Amino acid sequence: MPSNKPQEIEVPFHRASITDAEIDEVVKVLRSGWITSGPLVKRFEQAFAEYIGCTHAIALNSCTAGLHLALEALGIERGDAVVVPTMTFAATAEVVRYLDANPVFIDCREEDFNMDTAQLPEVIARAQATAPVRAVIPVHYGGQIGEVNSLKDTAAEHGLKIIEDAAHCCPAKFRDSDDADWQNVGSIGDVAAFSFYANKTITTGEGGMAITEDPALEERMRIMSLHGMSRDAWKRFSKEGSYYYEIVAPGYKYNLTDIAAAIGVHQLRRADELHCERTRIAAFYSEQLSDIDEVILPRLIPNRLHSWHLYVIRLKVDRLTIDRKAFVEALRELGITTSVHWMPLHMHPYYRDKYGYRPEDFPVAARLYDEVLTLPLFPGMTDEQLDHVVSSVRSIVSTHLRSGV
Ligand SMILES: *Cc1c(COP(=O)(O)O)cnc(C)c1O
Repeated sequence: MPSNKPQEIEVPFHRASITDAEIDEVVKVLRSGWITSGPLVKRFEQAFAEYIGCTHAIALNSCTAGLHLALEALGIERGDAVVVPTMTFAATAEVVRYLDANPVFIDCREEDFNMDTAQLPEVIARAQATAPVRAVIPVHYGGQIGEVNSLKDTAAEHGLKIIEDAAHCCPAKFRDSDDADWQNVGSIGDVAAFSFYANKTITTGEGGMAITEDPALEERMRIMSLHGMSRDAWKRFSKEGSYYYEIVAPGYKYNLTDIAAAIGVHQLRRADELHCERTRIAAFYSEQLSDIDEVILPRLIPNRLHSWHLYVIRLKVDRLTIDRKAFVEALRELGITTSVHWMPLHMHPYYRDKYGYRPEDFPVAARLYDEVLTLPLFPGMTDEQLDHVVSSVRSIVSTHLRSGV
């Protein structure tokens, strides 16, 4: 009898959850003869608006496209400053550079890794000395919405637009207190952008959605998402459309295909089920890892519906004989792939060299970077895989304890 050696269990960082419903719908689209933006995109937009609870939803080929279109529609121009958390993915800041504006970084707070809104007035005041500060892009880290009220107050006070980077947030909600009404992600900002990248909470392979309540922003983003054409291609080519269009601006090519939207409509139908599964896995990790003193588990902010896109643990590196990098490698040797979210943007060569940032300029983000590790979390993970992750973290910690602390 072969023994059940734990090191033979492979745990990928992610595996997309795709059912026959998605596959059959894609095949239907392929057979229909209409494969780019068309009826499935419309269906996906309507269903998304209903699910998230917003008026306008524009399907795009990425979340990055949504953030870019939002800044453009809000009139961000060359030389403007936009406040961006340093603890985020590349997309959040690069879109500011697309418009020749400049990201002004802000540190995160330890509690939830979201933007430290208490620092916002000071960050704005410092940036304002050299450039108009026009907008702020809060990133809801891992799918948990951070401090909302002081963010909105400070933004309003300084006339800043708010664009929510809601890449992790399908779904996420917040409320002010136990007896207040739940509020939707996207209701804080002028625009919010979601991601359907392969490893996000719902996926279309590549894809995104921009949402807004403002019809003027909706119109501008829609036009700019397709070459600056005054009409959508799907209208042009549909029975009631016409060949005629006008170019009103040099737009971009950011539309979603019907092939991708076919995946999206079924992922969205399954969004609550997928969320339920993510929540269950997160709860399992939190329960099973809670007694390990050398690891800090994700903290839940009261009155938040967490999407659980990411389950990020922190290593108490001063109590261990190995650093985060070695910890990641040790897990990999046991068949477990993990990730790091993120190396703060101000530490990347481009931003460091262009703006002269030093790691210690944002001390909380810089320290967290040395400590964080994202565990695999995806619907369909087996009990065996989950147990293997938990026992591997436990055994690596216990074999690398620093004595005398
Ligand atoms: C994934 C991600 C994006 C980009 O999403 P795409 O759909 O790949 O463009 C933007 N912001 C954050 C925080 C992300 O994690």
